[in-house]
Amino acid sequence: MSLNTQGIVIREQTLRENDRMISILTKDHGVVRAYVFGAKKPGGRLSSSTQLFAFSDFSLNKKNDFYTVDHAVAKEVFFELRNNIEAIALAQYFAQLEEEFASSSEGNSEYLRLMLNSLHILCKNKRPFPQVKAVFELRLMCLSGYMPDIMMCSSCGKYEDETMFFNLADTTLLCKTCSDGSGRQIDLGLLRSLRHVCYSDHEKIFNFSLSDEGYEKMSSLTQDYLLLKAKRTFKTLDFYNALTRGDIST
Ligand SMILES: [Zn+2]
Repeated sequence: MSLNTQGIVIREQTLRENDRMISILTKDHGVVRAYVFGAKKPGGRLSSSTQLFAFSDFSLNKKNDFYTVDHAVAKEVFFELRNNIEAIALAQYFAQLEEEFASSSEGNSEYLRLMLNSLHILCKNKRPFPQVKAVFELRLMCLSGYMPDIMMCSSCGKYEDETMFFNLADTTLLCKTCSDGSGRQIDLGLLRSLRHVCYSDHEKIFNFSLSDEGYEKMSSLTQDYLLLKAKRTFKTLDFYNALTRGDIST
């Protein structure tokens, strides 16, 4: 049985000298794992189209429950990611998140779209990394059925306040009057940015601005929210955070 699909390689493992196993985030078949034979031979015809972060047209062949890549033509390889260690670290984190969350939801092309959009933004270095990270984390949560309830104060229905309080665990938003001061304090700019990422069309999700400090706050909030929902940690995230803190010299 053959399968023709578009997708991006989100994981690669070397098996034997020239062979590897890849995970492909596809447009309409969720995450598919496939063998690539002869991938690492110098000049091998599948070498660049099946490498990590290659976005390609794939022809896969299924035999005994295993897919193999028959043919793949690269459309985009996001080469510029390799010029910046923080960008590549963030891309690896996004790939691990996609594998975690998109695997069980076959056929939703929004997962692939989010990945491609985010890698384009990272390559062009158009937005601060904490912003790209926050947008990716929050939008991924929305796609996966974990959209936070940030429409209004959950007690009195107030839409906006200069400061509101967000309780991560039960995703409740409270205004200043209704809150006892517990939960994460969020100012109006941050609240509007969070809403923007949750409710806007996919092509507009990066179109907002905050101060650098605002992006850091947003990224910390979306990260904690994601980790709570994922109920696990991610090595790629630990690595990215260690890099940005300067724990790892480059
Ligand atoms: Zn209230």
